[in-house]
Amino acid sequence: MLDQLPYPVYVKDAHSRYLTVNQAMADEHGASRETLLQQTGISSQEGSAGLRVMLDEDARVIDGERIRREEHGPHPLTGQERFRIATKSTCLNALGEPVIVGTMVDLTELRQAEREIREALAREVKLRERTEEFIQRLIDVIPDPVYVKRADGRYLIINDAFAEYQARSRQALLDDPAYFPHLSEESQQLSNAEDQAVLGGSEVFKEEHTIRRATGEEIFRIVTKRRSAYVDGEPVVIGVDRHTTKWRLAERELKAALDREVNLRERTQAFVQRLIDVIPDPVYVKKADNHYVMVNEAFLQFHRRARGEVLNNPRIMLWGREEDRLNALSEDRTVLDGGEVIKEEHTVRVGTDEEVFRIVTKRLSSYFDGVPVIIGIDHHITRWRVAERELLRLAQQDTLTGLSNRRHFRDLAESAIARATRYEEALSLLMLDIDHFKTINDRWGHGIGDEVLIQTVHICQTVLRATDLFARWGGEEFIALLPHTRLENAQQVANRLAQELAGTPVPTSQGMLKVTLSGGVTQWQPGENLDQLVSRTDAALYRAKEAGRNRVLSATC
Ligand code: GH3
Ligand code: MG
Ligand code: MG
Repeated sequence: MLDQLPYPVYVKDAHSRYLTVNQAMADEHGASRETLLQQTGISSQEGSAGLRVMLDEDARVIDGERIRREEHGPHPLTGQERFRIATKSTCLNALGEPVIVGTMVDLTELRQAEREIREALAREVKLRERTEEFIQRLIDVIPDPVYVKRADGRYLIINDAFAEYQARSRQALLDDPAYFPHLSEESQQLSNAEDQAVLGGSEVFKEEHTIRRATGEEIFRIVTKRRSAYVDGEPVVIGVDRHTTKWRLAERELKAALDREVNLRERTQAFVQRLIDVIPDPVYVKKADNHYVMVNEAFLQFHRRARGEVLNNPRIMLWGREEDRLNALSEDRTVLDGGEVIKEEHTVRVGTDEEVFRIVTKRLSSYFDGVPVIIGIDHHITRWRVAERELLRLAQQDTLTGLSNRRHFRDLAESAIARATRYEEALSLLMLDIDHFKTINDRWGHGIGDEVLIQTVHICQTVLRATDLFARWGGEEFIALLPHTRLENAQQVANRLAQELAGTPVPTSQGMLKVTLSGGVTQWQPGENLDQLVSRTDAALYRAKEAGRNRVLSATC
């Protein structure tokens, strides 16, 4: 029956001699049952030390001790690892003598399986530790607070930034997550409710603007919470608080700076507008393509336009003539290419025929927005130019008759003499003096005298040519320089003049008056200056007076 048992069983007497061994025992020792029985119960493989231990043990068993010992070592025959439990106890045999009953149960497979399980578990623990360590290191690198929370609200993993933000140690937070000095009761409840919602499958993604209770510091965060399964499958909440404070504050600063810039720009623009409105001449600021961005009051008044019509209306026609517009555009291009326009312009306005004199100045500048612009000023000088023209006219004209005065005549006559000298042309001079003019004045009054002077000039002009220089020499004396005219012809003209006047009563407001004149005529001699020529002619005139008046005499020398 014992041979049926798969593990060794033996019975020894009190002297450690084998009384019975089963087959498994014989196999264990690699010897036959008979050999084992003859060896007095001691395996040949045991050394002397082992033998002593065994004998000592057997003695204790006979004394009543139960031995139960687990052995671990190489199999004495195969050298393979072996675990077994050896038990020894005593009982009485059929003769009433105490015997030792021993078994050796092999546990090798069990122990090895156990060991594998243990090793696998250790590997798993190690892997988990390494995984957690890796995750920890990974999230510690993230500068924003990151945490992993269990369903019950306890923190599983948190990174350095989170601990730092909570101003508590990592361990304190992991051990006691319920206590947050910086969070109000309400915030904590809200956070818990969120966690539950996230675990239920929803997601949290929101921007938060908070003031930290502890420090009063302003915080902007993008709070993200998501559900995930932890490495062991446990559902957890992963939270990331993206701190956007720096950006938000920078953004706010930027917006404030932009607002300040806009304000500054508006104020500057208003100031520039007021400044240019004070200028009495039209001033404008134009971008390319005839795009007016700023004009002053004088500009609007001059062009008779409303501001809204002009600004931002590139098709505006301020001058009414297409060619003027095209010319202005080409000037604008010159200015935008770096040139400058400064010129005097004399224009006649379409519609009103009003004369306009302007000094047009166009320069390149850059506008508030940095875009290149043309700054134009039309300095209106019409008044000055008209006054100047009038002054010139007054300086050159006799106001009563409209003829050139003596000074202007001298200028023109000197040029004529110079020309005659250069081209060797003929030139004659005629001087006329109204006879007894003093009498006319005395009799009819000075006003009638003036009328007579005017009418006499008209009559003379009907005889003289347009190219003749006819002027008032002074008082009732007139002078005429006849270009390309020899003495004979000059004499003829002078005679005709005298005859015409003598034969034509002069109309005045007091009726028709008979007027005569006397004259002297000479031909210019090469080398002679104006004074010499006048002097000779005057002498001839004097002689005509002497000779009885109402005649024209030529110079004798
Ligand atoms: P004679 O035939 O010798 O030339 O005599 P006369 O009276 O014409 O000459 P006189 O030189 O004695 O007088 C010229 C007068 O002309 C004197 C002056 O008062 C007058 N007279 C000069 N200028 C003007 C003027 O602009 N208007 C008027 N009404 N009289 C003038
Ligand atoms: Mg006179
Ligand atoms: Mg006279």
